[in-house]
Amino acid sequence: MNKVNILGTIYTIKKSNAKKDSNLVKADGYIDTTTKTIVLADLESDKNEYNSLDNIQLYADKVFRHELIHAFLFESGLACYGNDEKIVDWIAVQYPKLKEVFERLKVEK
Ligand SMILES: [Zn+2]
Repeated sequence: MNKVNILGTIYTIKKSNAKKDSNLVKADGYIDTTTKTIVLADLESDKNEYNSLDNIQLYADKVFRHELIHAFLFESGLACYGNDEKIVDWIAVQYPKLKEVFERLKVEK
């Protein structure tokens, strides 16, 4: 199991599947703020839904980034925003574009 430091709080990252974890029946990832765990669906076991391994990895990365944003907002004391899927998705989807602009303009730090 991997760990990640989210603003000073250590989260455990683990993979599971819908058979073992019912929270993954309708979602491919979630965070548990009580146990400080990020749970990601083991998408490789559902290979038939995807066209290629590259697609699986791309989608898995998007899910992971989305769940990390939830955790960052929660650990910032912004649980109200962290529970807003639109805001979480906006940050997760737009982050690469924001990063590119910050780096190009050298305002990344
Ligand atoms: Zn979400």
